[in-house]
Amino acid sequence: MGSELIVDITKSFPGQLTIDVVFKMALEPPSVLILFGPSGSGKTTILRSVAGLEWPERGVIRYGAETWLDSARGTRLPPQRRCLGYMFQDYALFPNYSVAGNVAFGMEARTGDERHQRVREVLGMLQLEGFQDQKPGQLSGGQQQRVALARAIARRPRLLLLDEPLSALDVPTRTQLRGELRNLLRQLAVPSIVVTHDWEEALALGDTMVVIHDGRVLQSGAPQEVFNHPRDAEVAKIVGIETVMPGRIMDSSEGLVTVEVAGTKLQALAGEESGPDVFVCIRAEDVVLEPVGMRATSARNKLNGLVRDIISMGALVRVEIDCGFLLAAVVTRSALEDLHLAAGSPVMAVVKAGAVHLIPRRDGAHHTKRP
Ligand code: ADP
Ligand code: MG
Repeated sequence: MGSELIVDITKSFPGQLTIDVVFKMALEPPSVLILFGPSGSGKTTILRSVAGLEWPERGVIRYGAETWLDSARGTRLPPQRRCLGYMFQDYALFPNYSVAGNVAFGMEARTGDERHQRVREVLGMLQLEGFQDQKPGQLSGGQQQRVALARAIARRPRLLLLDEPLSALDVPTRTQLRGELRNLLRQLAVPSIVVTHDWEEALALGDTMVVIHDGRVLQSGAPQEVFNHPRDAEVAKIVGIETVMPGRIMDSSEGLVTVEVAGTKLQALAGEESGPDVFVCIRAEDVVLEPVGMRATSARNKLNGLVRDIISMGALVRVEIDCGFLLAAVVTRSALEDLHLAAGSPVMAVVKAGAVHLIPRRDGAHHTKRP
């Protein structure tokens, strides 16, 4: 019996985009696949196709041993028989239904008691106790998001599909709910596909990431891998950040956090990190290069290293520095010349604490189910 979700589909909108993608994901929980890409790249259409809400003109979708779509054989399993939870980008809550009514909607025919019990259970999981009789219009954006999530998980789906689950929220709420969503996905242990164009979400939530652009898969792999090693300039442009390393928080005081990365200690501003394990992310444009032995700057992080590689990017140059870990910097060609840098040169990389972003990271025990 297969234990993968396999998606291999073509869907075209005449005169618009043609979506032509192949990817697969492990179904052993908690497996979270990120569909990452800019707006208009085809992510929602792919998700809707997996759900059976959109019919690709060609292709195969298999969930383990089941065939959900096989265009050559004319197999099309209707959405309700795929047993999945779908959360729409705009939530699509019913304004005239109560919170409980929204959550109960579409649950399989059970006894009233059973349904009531399950609704109570998921409202509890999402900290929505006491809101069951309210209407969506009376709730904050964050609460509406939780109701939409509660509805998606209420019927105990075998696959959870979340379309930009956090994008409608303001930044502080988004950061908070990102952490909660991460814990929830672990706790549920249901394989999930999460659409996003936010790199923090991709790193915090994903086990695997598929980069989509113009209806095609450009790259797939562990999020950290893809962010660190974009396959080409096109992917690099889409994913943006340049250095992502696993790190561990050692100490925290007065709004500053000390984090250890490959034996090097860095200072970062304190944020929302929940445990000691984090991804440390540094954008290449936030790294300033100086000659070794320069007088002190006020920046918190000064890293001595050796230039590993210099890659031309037109007017700009990407410099990879080995400072215990591989740090990418982008500088102008003239800066490179002023610094007399070549492969093997010593150099000092300076990074402000505010440019060191920390994203919660799952620890090694993430395959164990939490109570
Ligand atoms: P994303 O979720 O990545 O923003 P979508 O899957 O929503 O991308 O849409 C990708 C592209 O597919 C759109 O830019 C549009 O050209 C086309 N498209 C999507 N849905 C439709 C539709 N119902 N009719 C026509 N074109 C569509
Ligand atoms: Mg979309």
